[in-house]
Formats: sequence, C-alpha cells, structure tokens
Amino acid sequence: MPSADSAYGELLDRARESATLGSCAAVLGWDERTFLPPGGSGLRGRQMALLARMCHEMATHPRVGELLQILEDSELNGTHAANLREWRRGYDRAVKLPSELVSELASVTSEAQSVWQEAKHKSDFALFRPWLEKIVLLKRREAECVGYVEDAYDALVDEFEPGATALELTRMLGGLSRDLAPLVAEIVAKQPSADESLWTQQYPLDVQEQICREVAKSVGFDFHRGRLDTTSHPFCTGIGPGDCRILTRYHVNKPFEAFFGTLHEAGHGLYEQGLLESEWATPCGMAASFGIHESQSRLWENQIGRSREFWSAWGPRFRSAFSAFRSTSDEEFWCLLNQVKPSLIRIDADEATYNLHIVLRFELELALMSGDVAAADLPGAWADKVRQYLGLPVPDDAHGCLQDIHWSFGGIGYFPSYTLGNLYAAQILEAAEKQIPALWDGVREGQLSVLTDWLRANIHVHGQRFQPAELIQRVTGTPPDPGAFLRYLRGKYLGVAG
Ligand code: ZN
Repeated sequence: MPSADSAYGELLDRARESATLGSCAAVLGWDERTFLPPGGSGLRGRQMALLARMCHEMATHPRVGELLQILEDSELNGTHAANLREWRRGYDRAVKLPSELVSELASVTSEAQSVWQEAKHKSDFALFRPWLEKIVLLKRREAECVGYVEDAYDALVDEFEPGATALELTRMLGGLSRDLAPLVAEIVAKQPSADESLWTQQYPLDVQEQICREVAKSVGFDFHRGRLDTTSHPFCTGIGPGDCRILTRYHVNKPFEAFFGTLHEAGHGLYEQGLLESEWATPCGMAASFGIHESQSRLWENQIGRSREFWSAWGPRFRSAFSAFRSTSDEEFWCLLNQVKPSLIRIDADEATYNLHIVLRFELELALMSGDVAAADLPGAWADKVRQYLGLPVPDDAHGCLQDIHWSFGGIGYFPSYTLGNLYAAQILEAAEKQIPALWDGVREGQLSVLTDWLRANIHVHGQRFQPAELIQRVTGTPPDPGAFLRYLRGKYLGVAG
C-alpha cells in the first residue's frame, strides 16, 4: 500500500492531468463565444462532449477512491486536509451519478438550449415547456442520486455554493426581499433624474475599447497573463495559470455597458489570476464558489465602480474621451450610473432591484423541484411574482420566464449565487473599509492596488481552503447576512449612516 505522501502525489498527478484536459475544454468554450464560425458548432459539440466524458471518467476512476481512502486513514492538515475534503466531496458526487444520467442530462440540455433560444426569439413558452419538464425530472433524479438531508434542492445548490441549503437561502433571501421592496420604493421616490438624452449620442467603439483596457489594468488585471476580447455574452474564463480571458460587448450608444461589463469581468479575472499557481488543479487553487466569485465582480462593478470616489477619478477621462460628456459633471455621472428603477429584465437591472429578480427565480425553482408549480404553469407563476416583487405586468414570455438561459442548461440552483455575491461583496467591503483606512482616498485618486492586494491576501489565495460561509466569517467577522448590503444601499441612496 502506498504511503500517504505517495498517495497524495498520485492524486495530485491525476488532478493535474484532469485539469489540463479541462483547460482544453475551456479554450474551446472561449473560442465558441468569440471566433467559431456557425458551421463549426456541430463539431464543437462533439469535441466538448468527448472532453466532458473523459473528464468524468478520470474523476470517477476507482483508483481515485482508493487513494482518498489511504489519505483519510492518515493525518493530514492545512492545505492538504482541505484538498482531501474537497476531492472527497467531488468524487462522491461524481460516482453517485450514473454515467447514463450524466450523458442524458448532457444531451437533453444541449438540445434544450437551442430550443430555448428559438422559444425566446418567438416569445413562445409552449415550445420550451416539454424540455423544461424533462430537465426538472432529470434534476430531481440527480438530486436523489447525490442525496440530501432536508430538501432535494440542497443537492443541486451545493454544486454552485457548497454548504448552502434551501432552508438557509429561504431565510436569507426572504429577509432580504422583505426589506428591499420598501427600500426600493423609497429610493425611487427620492432619486434625482438623469439626462437620458445621452443614450442617443455616438461613442466611438475604438475609444470605448481603449478605456475598457485602461479600467481593467487599473484594478490590476494582468494583460501578460490575460486577454480582453469582444463577444455577445460577456464572461470570464480562467483557463489555467498564466491564461485568463475576459470578454465584453460594445454598444455605440451605451459606453457604460462595455465599461461596467469589463469591470465586472475583470473582477472575476482578478480572482482567477490571484489563485495560487503552486496549488493549480487542486481545490485550494480553485475559486471557493460561484457566490464568492460573483462577490469579486460585483464589488468592483458596483461598490467601487459606481461610487462617487471612483467617478472623481474617471469623470475627467470620459469628458476628454467623448464630446457628448464634455459638460457632464462627476456628480452627474454618479446620477446617470445609479438610477434605480424596477424593470422586467434581470441583466439590465440596477443593483438595488437586481436581487428581487433573483428571489423570484429562487422561489420558482424551489417550487418547480417540489412540484408545487408545474412547468406548464410557469408563465403565470412568473407573472404573479413579478407583480409581487417589482410591481410590473409581464407582457410576454421573452420578457418573462424565457429571458434566462440557466434552466435550459440544467443550472437549477445557480441563481442564488448572484445574490449571495452581492451580499458577500457588501460584507467584504465593510471589512476592507475597516482594515484599509485610506481605501476611499485611493479610489478617488485612481489608486486601486491596495484593495486588489487586500482581496488577494484575504480571499484569492485561499481557493477552496474554507467553505464559502466560513470564508466570509473569517474575512468579515460575521456569517453570510443581508445586513451589510441593506446598510450599503441605505447609505448610498438615502444618505442614512450605519
Ligand atoms: Zn459575474
């Protein structure tokens, strides 16, 4: 029987091989969203399916189970113990899923995504309904295979936010929505209006791109180890050490779409670039969760990027770059960028109403999983929730339950990560403000490296060493909680301190 040291070494070799294969899939995924000609999508599907199958085979190899057992019989601590914990979690989940279920989920969701696209285009939920029914059934089976203590949803959300449960999320998001609805109404009633005519002006794309590069660089995104490209669906992919790619989209009338899109993705990119290269391919060299990842992007995009201090540094740059902004004051920029208004589309929502979009999705996916809402009744249930939380009528399915891709790829349990990201970001910012007294002076002068370094030291370098809730507790001194986010909104929009 191998010693614990050699068992660890063998697992590490296997993890690195598997991560290398995964990085090949990541390059193909990036290419798919940037340069792949439409005619190549069939072959790309086969390439991705082959790599996914190979990765699953590697992850579920019986030898991995033997090696984990040897390590569990020995005394590990620190990083090794954390890696063992997460390797075990991943292995157990992977072996519990029969390969027949994995491949059925892959093929159903692959087809469902193209049906969803057509259904959304035609605003016709009836087209997508049979696919959603199949996906819900398959995800229920997945949850049964993986196992759970209280709620089948727990088995699904755990993939995105380890340790999160339906019960805890219901408590946290329920509390948030109760406080948020009246707060949004108060902000809307008090906010100053912004000059909407600016969105009919032209903002040359080459200048926009230059500014996007500048802002990514200013937060510390390393272009020697990363790229910024154009896409129709902005995202960030950490391919591996030395290669992290962010994508944004440009609109000639809306310069802030690309700017904040870049800032958001650069926040994700900083996290990927801040993971320890020495731990690459092990859990401690990977992001803690989707929620923690999102906290890094939201913090830069909203808390920093939409602050008055940030615009005293960036206002002059926008005034000199675009003639339409020549007479826009820093305060007017702040106003333009912080309009709160309930709306129908999640991705266009402001930071205050955004979480109401997530709460309603979370409640609906819980109901779909439990059977309280049948797939056929989704459009009506969606409209009821939108009226309840946002006070708006839903005119059609494209502006309602067909707007997001997530359920078509089987991502039930994914949505809460967005709100967790917002809540974590507010908690993290409060901690950073306490520990970096000159934080806002730096932001005002465009000096952002102090905060980047702090995030790196307190969050990035740990990878999955701690589970998300534990990491938040360690960094901020309190467990995940909506309080800091609500304080942030009240302070920013209503001038209420504390
Ligand atoms: Zn994001």
